[in-house]
Amino acid sequence: KNRVYRFGNKIADGSSKMRNLLGGKGANLAEMSAIGIPVPPGFTITTEVCTEYNLLGRDAVVDLIKDEVEDAITTIESLMAAKFGDKDNPLLVSVRSGARVSMPGMMDTVLNLGMNDEVVLGLAKKTNNEQFAWDSYRRFIQMYGGVVLGMKPESKDDIDPFEEIMEHLKEKRGIQLDTEFTIQDLKDLVYDFKDAVKKRTGHDFPTNPWEQLWGAIMAVFNSWNGDRAVYYRNMHGYPADWGTAVNVQAMVYGNMGNNSGTGVCFTRDAGTGENKFNGEYLINAQGEDVVAGVRTPQQITKIGSERWAELAKIDEVERIANYPSLEELMPDIFDELNGYQQILENHYRDMQDMEFTIQDGKLWILQTRNGKRTGAAMVKIAMDLLKEGLITEQEALLQIEPNKLDELLHPVFDPSALKRANVIAQGLPASPGAATGKIVFFADEASKYKSSILVRIETSPEDLEGMNIAKGILTARGGMTSHAAVVARGMGKCCISGAGALKINYKTRTLKVGDHEYHEGDWISLNGSTGNIIEGKVATVEPELSGEFGELMALSDKYAIMKVRTNADTPKDARIARNFGADGIGLTRTEHMFFELDRIKAMREMILADTLKERKQALEDLLPMQRADFEGIFEAMEGKSVTIRLLDPPLHEFVPHQLATQKELAAQMHIPLQAVKNKVAELEEFNPMLGHRGCRLGNTYPEITEMQTRAIIEAALNLKERGVICKPEIMVPLIGTVKEFLYQEEIIRNTAKAIFKERNDSIAYLVGTMIEIPRAALMADRIAEHADFFSFGTNDLTQMTFGYSRDDASKFLPVYIDKGILQVDPFEVLDQEGVGQLIKVGTERGRSTKPNLKVGICGEHGGEPSSVEFCYRTGMDYVSCSPYRVPIARLVSAQAAI
Ligand code: ADP
Ligand code: MG
Ligand code: MG
Repeated sequence: KNRVYRFGNKIADGSSKMRNLLGGKGANLAEMSAIGIPVPPGFTITTEVCTEYNLLGRDAVVDLIKDEVEDAITTIESLMAAKFGDKDNPLLVSVRSGARVSMPGMMDTVLNLGMNDEVVLGLAKKTNNEQFAWDSYRRFIQMYGGVVLGMKPESKDDIDPFEEIMEHLKEKRGIQLDTEFTIQDLKDLVYDFKDAVKKRTGHDFPTNPWEQLWGAIMAVFNSWNGDRAVYYRNMHGYPADWGTAVNVQAMVYGNMGNNSGTGVCFTRDAGTGENKFNGEYLINAQGEDVVAGVRTPQQITKIGSERWAELAKIDEVERIANYPSLEELMPDIFDELNGYQQILENHYRDMQDMEFTIQDGKLWILQTRNGKRTGAAMVKIAMDLLKEGLITEQEALLQIEPNKLDELLHPVFDPSALKRANVIAQGLPASPGAATGKIVFFADEASKYKSSILVRIETSPEDLEGMNIAKGILTARGGMTSHAAVVARGMGKCCISGAGALKINYKTRTLKVGDHEYHEGDWISLNGSTGNIIEGKVATVEPELSGEFGELMALSDKYAIMKVRTNADTPKDARIARNFGADGIGLTRTEHMFFELDRIKAMREMILADTLKERKQALEDLLPMQRADFEGIFEAMEGKSVTIRLLDPPLHEFVPHQLATQKELAAQMHIPLQAVKNKVAELEEFNPMLGHRGCRLGNTYPEITEMQTRAIIEAALNLKERGVICKPEIMVPLIGTVKEFLYQEEIIRNTAKAIFKERNDSIAYLVGTMIEIPRAALMADRIAEHADFFSFGTNDLTQMTFGYSRDDASKFLPVYIDKGILQVDPFEVLDQEGVGQLIKVGTERGRSTKPNLKVGICGEHGGEPSSVEFCYRTGMDYVSCSPYRVPIARLVSAQAAI
């Protein structure tokens, strides 16, 4: 089998279809090369080798791939007419990682590899550019030192050891920018860098290019299991055995002088989705300079610079506006780049994020990938591509990442509150959204407050976890393609970057704007759509869902077969869900109504009652309240089915546990305190989740079921009188045996019959059950003889199938996930393998006796994409999820059916 795939010079061993084997970067380099885009030649070591490395270790893997790697280097040598390690005509390469999904900044890249004290002289002579040669050398030591030799900052307040040396020299020389170093400065830097490496690692910096190459390849493999990568993988649920590929590629140099440069560009606006080619670049720069925010980059397109000129209220932005765009500075290169961006977008039929380098007037493309984008941009781009005829309806739907729709459903700043807002500064609108929180300056302190805003001079991959926790991200440096901006857009997190007016001091933990000082813990707000930084807290409102979002939802409904209902306990939730397109309610938890202030009293009286008579009296008091609740919900869901579950939680959840409240209750009920205490003690259970709850309540206190049925049926009849159509479905929770259901069903039907007689009117209703105890799933054929419908309660079903108490699992689940005993939290993502069997069996057996049995799911899984997809495959009629997940489930239902 092949472990090394070559690309370059318009040919390639691989293609974009091989992304699992070659990683995203490698597969696309191959593809670009094959379709004639100028890509520096190179080769990709497959992801399988990474897995082999993890199993067998370094030596064995070197043995496995040595010949192939050496051959591939020879190919590059002949294409570039240069020789790896040669001191007169040297070839330098980059070593780049690339997993099958893009993980921004996750894996480290080493540029200019193959450099040493002799090669640098040869390179200087060959290019007749000593400045460039030494700049490349110092960069190489810096990157190799950091990535391969572990020369990283020792603590979080420390700066990078190489940066420190450079800062020192800049200070001494009174200069600001890396580009201002003289040749002698660069030579000194190289010397000092090597010295620092020797001191810290105890070894000389490796001079043999082949030793360097193998070192870098192994470092890439190692980075797959580095903290950052592992965190990112876990966050997205990517398995460890995917591995990363390694790309080795001939260097092209953007740091050769003012006729060279490097940049990043997007075929469309990654923030809004607008169809505008845009990006940033730097003259005389290399690699990550643009992204790292070392210098503030310039715009690619003229339109871009005009747009920024508009925003030019702060120093930094003004500076950008004053620097010419690539379109103005190098029109020919711009035209060529503009051509490639169109070719690539048409070829991949999606928005592309590209990297390019200009070496002495020649353009090279170094990477393309489907660009990360905000939720809003994702929807707009998909709908636009559809309208432009580039993709089909099905493809448009499949292009949407369900979970990212979530961003569009979140609150935005209240426009009236914004009018009063005190804008203290403005930065670049790097990632839209509204964020309010308390200032923190360090990523690992983001969780210090419930809502925090991470304020940094710039961010780095180490900050990923904190960026994820923070509500918003604010940086003083860096452009629209800076690390902070790209990562924030990927996370759908509000971000403002490059706010040059901010003076951030990590030591004193302060943020200065003009003469105003803000401290850690102070509230600020970010408007990621305008770049405005606002003092204090700003009120938010629900977003409006129209335009492209509406089009997407309509398209989803066209393809979806399985319906989406909502879990809603109040008319308000029901209305929100209906706005989001819910097709009825799959679960109303009646107990939630009892927790409200005036009701809990009546509820407690009911629970504390000693005799049936007393209990019935208390239930009488509860009846009108429940009935009113149901009327509200039915009305909000007019014309749609509403499933109401009978009382479910153990009674002990409703009684007071504190002395003061117990006293209050005793006084209220005119009974001794001791009686209350006794009752509370009596309700105490060793294992309440497996205790006196669910239908066990209704079967021991039938009067509860009677009252609830009465409230439901009377509410329905009341609405019927007013001409509102309602379709009640009464659901019995937690049954394990047929008889448990039969007892409840009898009470429900008899009560309904009695009411129909009383009112001389009637209404159609269903009586069904939850399937949430494993035994019920196994007995489903018998239960379906009586039940009108099933609803899988996957929270309890998961709890009981795994035997994990949902309320105690937080003690061991994180460890299990960490150790790989479990891949994901089964309470979040349905365990299709195990719990899924019970759902399948339950559905099949149920329908074996009642072919038309209505089957659905309620519980957290009903809004989780992979679980929804599973429900579709199982043949469910609907999923039910929380209101804010309804659009996501509608989309997934469509995707599943395509
Ligand atoms: P990442 O995955 O973090 O983007 P990359 O491997 O793409 O890392 O490389 C980091 C930077 O180095 C990018 O700006 C890229 O364009 C640049 N780069 C990588 N290989 C080369 C090369 N052969 N010549 C010039 N620049 C390169
Ligand atoms: Mg890259
Ligand atoms: Mg349950």
